[in-house]
Amino acid sequence: MQQLDLRVLIPRQDIADKVQEMGEIISRDYGGQEVLLVVVLRGAALFAADLCRHIRADVVLDFIAVSSYGSSTSSSGVVRFLKDLDESVEGRHVLIIEDIVDTGLTLTYLLENLKSRHPLSLRTCTLLDKPSCRRVNIRPDYVGFTIDDLFVVGYGLDWDQRYRHLPDICIHQEG
Ligand code: 5GP
Repeated sequence: MQQLDLRVLIPRQDIADKVQEMGEIISRDYGGQEVLLVVVLRGAALFAADLCRHIRADVVLDFIAVSSYGSSTSSSGVVRFLKDLDESVEGRHVLIIEDIVDTGLTLTYLLENLKSRHPLSLRTCTLLDKPSCRRVNIRPDYVGFTIDDLFVVGYGLDWDQRYRHLPDICIHQEG
């Protein structure tokens, strides 16, 4: 078994406070209108579960799964659909919920794809943002924490499908 080095970067209480704050801002921005949350599996599942409980509006949840080819710790930029939405996007306020934006390639691909389905509005929300890693010019509408170029796990984020259950966001270094 590989040696692990996990250090807490963002403790659970800071995450909870931030998620509540984001929910309040989103509630204010949508002003009680229905919003379709497009949750990007699997990483954003835990964030979305907490966030949606702070949104005061009609919330509809749907899930999408994409995979970017590459190693476990770096994006290749090539994205493929593993699961599409069940809901129709046309004429609805759509908010994409991501765990982390790194190169920005996944979110750019999703935005282009969902835009072609004619939503009434289309915005993006991410818990974590690593702007120093961008390969495309994209800025999410709602950002929880901006972090340095570190590989993080926990609170939904994995390393080879592990550590998603950790309550804190931790820095993962291969030992
Ligand atoms: P992007 O297309 O923006 O480069 O990558 C987005 C996806 O890469 C995220 O949804 C996530 O699955 C993965 N990713 C990027 N950075 C990290 C990280 O620090 N930790 C983990 N666990 N996944 C990451």
